[in-house]
Amino acid sequence: MNLHEVLENALQRPVTREEALFLFKNTETEGDRNSLYAVARAVRKAETGDVFHFTGGIASVLPCRLRPLCNYCPYWRKKDQNPLPVEAIVAGARYFHREGVQEFHLSGGTTLGSDGKEVLDIVRKIHEAGLQDMKIMVNCGAAMSVDSMKQLKEWGVGSIGAVFEITNPEVFRKVKPGDDLAKKIQFAWDIQKAGLALSSGIMAGLGPEETRYEDYVNTLFDIAQFPHLSSIYISKFTPDPAIPMHDWKACSVEEAARLVAMARLVYRSINITTAAGWTEEERIQGILAGAGNALFSLAVNLKVDYWQGRQQEATFSEDNIEYRDTRPDKRAMAEQCGITISYQAKKYDLNRILYSEEIIKAQSAEGAKK
Ligand code: SF4
Repeated sequence: MNLHEVLENALQRPVTREEALFLFKNTETEGDRNSLYAVARAVRKAETGDVFHFTGGIASVLPCRLRPLCNYCPYWRKKDQNPLPVEAIVAGARYFHREGVQEFHLSGGTTLGSDGKEVLDIVRKIHEAGLQDMKIMVNCGAAMSVDSMKQLKEWGVGSIGAVFEITNPEVFRKVKPGDDLAKKIQFAWDIQKAGLALSSGIMAGLGPEETRYEDYVNTLFDIAQFPHLSSIYISKFTPDPAIPMHDWKACSVEEAARLVAMARLVYRSINITTAAGWTEEERIQGILAGAGNALFSLAVNLKVDYWQGRQQEATFSEDNIEYRDTRPDKRAMAEQCGITISYQAKKYDLNRILYSEEIIKAQSAEGAKK
């Protein structure tokens, strides 16, 4: 294998496992990294176009009841911490609607074994408030019955999150000791049974350095088995004094951006975003590495002091709730990255998500050659 040849092939078809591992190992220098990013951008342009849309997000909609909490996560560590009241969640959804942002996510913590009643109550209130022309993504831990998810679909939910961060079982147990990998995999399949799209996530810099590239490749391809995958976010491990992993090394933006690029070369047409741990400045690197096509720009959350010193100033606050509008930054970012912005949210089309089949075909062809 040589780098030029692997990148040429990646323009035409999804990379195989072997090629993905080769690319991680052979793009550590700046020049090689830039070649990888250029190919990922070309794949994005060919598969999805370079048109991005604004999205919104409401955080802390449900508490996290995992015990212990995940070792990399600073949320829900304070005593007496309450989730956002449902009235504030509806007000947040109204704010997005008023601003013309049609797609938003609700994120919250996990309650293992939950049937999803709490999420149903929230989405019902949004639906009853007349906000019925919006696309909602729910990311509240991997626990909900199929029936609850079918109901959510009727009320405007398009996708549900089952976020793995890493699928190496041993590392998963270490960093997410209160969570359950087998249940999460089952939940990801249940999302398909409910006829919904799957959103997932991978955290860069979470695993041990010795197996890091193998862990990235295995996680990317483990998640690729779900044919209903419609979006993935790449978080970037960032130490925080409040977390058990406070002395774990921060993930570099170059490493996280290479993971973004590789996600583009494997998954092709899905939505790939940068999430927790990326500064606004670093998100530009994500876009230059092939992320897209959503720009998370309107945020509603309780007044928080997570990620000390890294949170942007609130645009305005009401009743201890902060509203952040980063559309001006995103417009500047778009200009810098040569992308255009539309208010129109991309429609989910499960029939278009064919990359898993393509990957399997490519891998069989690779296997047949050996
Ligand atoms: S499930 Fe989510 S909110 Fe709960 S501890 Fe883990 S990362 Fe944090």
